[in-house]
Amino acid sequence: MSQFSSGSLEAKGIHLAFGSNKVLRGIDLEVPAGTTASVIGPSGSGKSTLLRVMNRLIEPDAGDILLDGRSVLKDNPDELRRRIGMVFQQFNLFPHKSVGENVAFALRKLRGLPKEQAREEALTQLDLVGLKHKADVRPATLSGGQQQRVAIARALAMKPEVMFFDEATSALDPELVKGILALMADLAEGGMTMVVVTHEMGFSRNVSDTVMFMDGGVAVETGAPERIFDDPQTDRLKRFLSDVL
Ligand code: ADP
Ligand code: MG
Repeated sequence: MSQFSSGSLEAKGIHLAFGSNKVLRGIDLEVPAGTTASVIGPSGSGKSTLLRVMNRLIEPDAGDILLDGRSVLKDNPDELRRRIGMVFQQFNLFPHKSVGENVAFALRKLRGLPKEQAREEALTQLDLVGLKHKADVRPATLSGGQQQRVAIARALAMKPEVMFFDEATSALDPELVKGILALMADLAEGGMTMVVVTHEMGFSRNVSDTVMFMDGGVAVETGAPERIFDDPQTDRLKRFLSDVL
């Protein structure tokens, strides 16, 4: 049974241009509740922009975004951002707040919990990522891997229905990457709905249910990992895989 109250996510026909630069050119992505989709592709292909559109940090020019089958484009964007947790390459922790306060802050601001309860809940979430004992230190005293765990705990504390990861391991020293990927795999295993932009092809193949290969703002191929990695259909994907594998 899932330990999360995950929802399904669907992007339909997403178009977005920055001026004359057509960055997303009709993207469709279906992520059933409790499954993980990974998004792979070269730098500049529109992966980060797609995540930003799907949690409405940027409004699409056309298309629709559905959470649990219902369009969210008319909802308050802040509401949507409470429902979708986001983890970035740069951990984006507040440097002057303690680790515990970093997690508790969002709980007070966004979920409106009273201070004591926010602190309790923050400690519970930190415990889940193995960092309860670091609650009172500043983020800068932690390793990159530990800081990313704090960022994940902070996102999970919001009880999101979906989690987005944008190259969450790209800024980490190589020896710290495995631990974060294992934590992400645990979340996937636990039934979280996830969209993971990653250069980690092992994670994409072994953990995700669906892989989308993007190039030039187009979803060139989307399918099960075995299909994408063992039987690529297009020259573009074949070339990408031979470059990264
Ligand atoms: P990826 O994450 O796959 O590397 P991005 O989504 O970051 O790609 O970028 C896709 C394209 O959109 C690039 O050409 C980039 O220069 C452009 N882009 C991204 N963000 C902005 C922005 N805020 N304003 C203008 N252009 C942008
Ligand atoms: Mg990016």
